[in-house]
Amino acid sequence: MQPYQRIVILGGGTAGWMAALALVTSQRAVEVEVVEAAPTCSIGIGVASCAALREFHRMVGIDEADFLRATLGSYRLGTELRDWQHLGQRYFDMLAGMEPDGTAAQYAYQFDTQLYAGYLRRLAMLRGVHRNVGRLEQAIRRADGGISALQLSNGRNICADLFIDCSGGDALLLGAELGVPFVDFSQWLPADAVWLCPAERSAATPAPCNIAVALDAGWAWQISLQHRSEHGYIYSRRHCDDATARTRLLARLDGAALAEPRLQHLRSGHRSRFWQHNVVALGQAAGQLEPLEAPAVMLIQRGLTDILQVLASPASAQADAIAAYNRAQERLYCYERDRLILHYARSTRQDSQFWRDMGKLALPDALALRLQAWRECVNPPRHEAARLDGASWGGIYAATGCVLRRCDPVLLELTREEALHARDARRVRLAALMELVQREYGQQHQLLA
Ligand SMILES: Cc1cc2nc3c(=O)[nH]c(=O)nc-3n(C[C@H](O)[C@H](O)[C@H](O)COP(=O)(O)OP(=O)(O)OC[C@H]3O[C@@H](n4cnc5c(N)ncnc54)[C@H](O)[C@@H]3O)c2cc1C
Repeated sequence: MQPYQRIVILGGGTAGWMAALALVTSQRAVEVEVVEAAPTCSIGIGVASCAALREFHRMVGIDEADFLRATLGSYRLGTELRDWQHLGQRYFDMLAGMEPDGTAAQYAYQFDTQLYAGYLRRLAMLRGVHRNVGRLEQAIRRADGGISALQLSNGRNICADLFIDCSGGDALLLGAELGVPFVDFSQWLPADAVWLCPAERSAATPAPCNIAVALDAGWAWQISLQHRSEHGYIYSRRHCDDATARTRLLARLDGAALAEPRLQHLRSGHRSRFWQHNVVALGQAAGQLEPLEAPAVMLIQRGLTDILQVLASPASAQADAIAAYNRAQERLYCYERDRLILHYARSTRQDSQFWRDMGKLALPDALALRLQAWRECVNPPRHEAARLDGASWGGIYAATGCVLRRCDPVLLELTREEALHARDARRVRLAALMELVQREYGQQHQLLA
């Protein structure tokens, strides 16, 4: 028998409603309920997604035009990075790649998280998910250490076999109640605060790339939605006070601010276990990372795919499936952490204390090994996450000045003519790709108009 007949999700943000929609779509025999506190903020955060979100939308039957209308979203072809390795540097981290059949380029989206959660909620409720608006007061524990019910401020007790903790950074169930510790990445990723400000968009149409500019104590970003731009500055409080950071952000707006800037705290890292007893965390309750590589929604999606696999495994194999889940999630967070660290650690900037400190970072072992393998032209095994996020390490190595120490052994086997031919063929493929991107973006743009 399926060990989980009734699943309760605590939290109605992006993670909570993505989970609810995925569960109600794929687990018809399971009853799903979402508990969420009434929203306190009327404006969401404009975020960038990875290309993989299109896979999630296909899985739950979301129509692209419908999604873009509901979230006032736009298309994203990649990120423009400025001033990372040195002041004046500018490069594009492109998502685009030719699909195997040579017909379509990769793309992702930029959208408002609050509108997205509302859109997913409407779909999930139409398909049978129950919604309960109320604050968690207390969790009632089982004898084995798990949770049997949530006691809400509206007087209700909500029982379940499995609880998905999507309560945000406080991880009210997995962290606060079960006491699963937090694995802190701040020794490598010291940014711990973010100023956010929505503003009028200066360009007539949304830009197809988000922009990430390295500043003196962190980095600032700009994301274009249909109705506005989102601006943020993520910085290390050890290197910059809040008032200065706020001024830096406001100075970057290219249109009128649409609201007072909001300050949020950030803690890069993850819970040491993601699934404990009958509680599994997703989204910010599972972990947080800087949004440079737009990993958060992809991590939620990946967590969900793996949760569905655990649910599908027989009761006798549950313990092994949960242990495998915990290992896979940890690997994913470390993989995404390392991609972030590379942007900082390879910088040659010395113009502020922040960058001087980042230049002295001791790399995590896995990243040091990966860099060494790249320089020596040994291809490390392709990580499972690479399949999902569509981003290439090669692009990051090139942009951060990680050059090869020796020639690729495959090239040594080629004659000069063969090598030149291979190079020219690659140029032709790249030119075709750029043409394809331009054509597809033109079509996408018409759809938005
Ligand atoms: C500044 C910033 C920029 C970001 N940019 C990106 C980006 O570009 N790309 C990307 O992929 N991700 C980005 N993210 C991350 C992304 O926004 C989140 O990871 C994602 O929205 C998931 O959030 P969540 O659902 O886990 O948490 P939240 O959205 O915080 O939702 C938490 C939910 O829990 C509920 N809740 C809390 N306490 C209680 C309680 N006591 N009782 C009942 N309910 C409760 C709340 O009401 C809410 O519904 C960014 C995050 C930040 C902060």
